[in-house]
Amino acid sequence: MTSKLLCAAFILAALTLSITFSLQPDQQKVLLVSFDGFRWDYLYRVPTPHFHYVMKYGVHVKQVTNIFITKTYPNHYTLVTGLFAENHGIVANDMFDPILNKSFSLDTMNIYDSEFWEEATPIWITNQKAGHTSGAAMWPGTDVKIHESFPTHYMLYNESVSFEERVAKIIEWFTSKEPINLGLLYWEDPDDMGHHLGPDSPLMGPVISDIDNKLGYLIQMLKKANLWNTLNLIITSDHGMTQCSEERVIELDQYLDKEHYLLIDQSPVAAILPKEGKFDEVYEALAHAHPNMTVYKKEEIPERWHYKYNTRVQPIIAVADEGWYILQNKSEGLMLGNHGYDNALAEMHPIFLAHGPAFRKNFTKAAMNATDLYPLLCHLLGIPALPHNGSLSSVQDLLRPTAPRTVTHTQSPPPHHGSGKPGEHEQESNAYFIGVSLDTYCPVKYQQVFT
Ligand SMILES: [Zn+2]
Repeated sequence: MTSKLLCAAFILAALTLSITFSLQPDQQKVLLVSFDGFRWDYLYRVPTPHFHYVMKYGVHVKQVTNIFITKTYPNHYTLVTGLFAENHGIVANDMFDPILNKSFSLDTMNIYDSEFWEEATPIWITNQKAGHTSGAAMWPGTDVKIHESFPTHYMLYNESVSFEERVAKIIEWFTSKEPINLGLLYWEDPDDMGHHLGPDSPLMGPVISDIDNKLGYLIQMLKKANLWNTLNLIITSDHGMTQCSEERVIELDQYLDKEHYLLIDQSPVAAILPKEGKFDEVYEALAHAHPNMTVYKKEEIPERWHYKYNTRVQPIIAVADEGWYILQNKSEGLMLGNHGYDNALAEMHPIFLAHGPAFRKNFTKAAMNATDLYPLLCHLLGIPALPHNGSLSSVQDLLRPTAPRTVTHTQSPPPHHGSGKPGEHEQESNAYFIGVSLDTYCPVKYQQVFT
């Protein structure tokens, strides 16, 4: 190995070390915010100055691949566990577990049975086991007892509690005598209005503007509490939304005798439990019933969905094409917007933005997986990550490199690298930092090493 190569290897190792070292204590605060159903391109539908403010002084990921099925509870549990649905066990908003012989239903808010949640351990529990405290304002699952624990502070779910009240609780917990290091904040829109109006409706413009104003309010309150520059704010969502229509409805009653099966979950992924001895009959009747519906026996579910290896996935699933709706019959009515479809579809993808001392500034990344958020959160909080399906190295480029603690620099780094509290108008100078590190370890210039 030439001296140049040896030198490059040493530099890369040193840079890796510098990134994987834990952050300064005042950098270890995280507020994770979810605006339910905020599709990735809503950012550009109408002016969203507050979202763009976060993008300018923070990071933005353009394409986030969430998990199948692209529903609310499965994806919110992925964000806090890093697991696919088949691994965390929240496989749908409406489920039946044949071993527990119990049902889980978002429609009836019958979601408080701990056993449904305990195939995984969410980050607030791991955070608290590491000696920290967490606070949750309505994030799905945070008012459920999981592995005998709740978040240190939490609010019982009540959709009539205003955004401002939820923000006030979060600020109170971050600024109390024993401050939390992890906050989770959830808001129901633009999902609710997206279902009601359909995402193509021009009336969605004011809905998106309202969310932007809510983000502006959150930023204002964080600044007032002196948290804006010390807290890592991550803004994301669970899924997008696509336009549906009364002309694109698949009625199961047209093909199946409803006495032969139970419909556990409906559109766009119908979860079908045939009654005893009726599997073949149900499958054959459904398999080629409609050109816009693909029917899978459980074992045939595509591997890329990471969806088949869980007892709560029913023996047959029928998946609608984008924009199509599966109903038992039309008397049930449909929503003009829906989600839950294939997670490869762009319209199912959410947003991802972040701002804070750990993040780079004015940095755009092309793509990430929703499962990568969990190891990133664990890294930011300085806590051990449990086994997960994500990758910290895939998202590490979102982070500012931190100064190695065990190395004496032969020249001083730029002042803001040591402070941990970047000012609002500082420019990202990652290239300069690499240059400093190279100068520290090796006499060659980085242009020579990496060309
Ligand atoms: Zn949702």
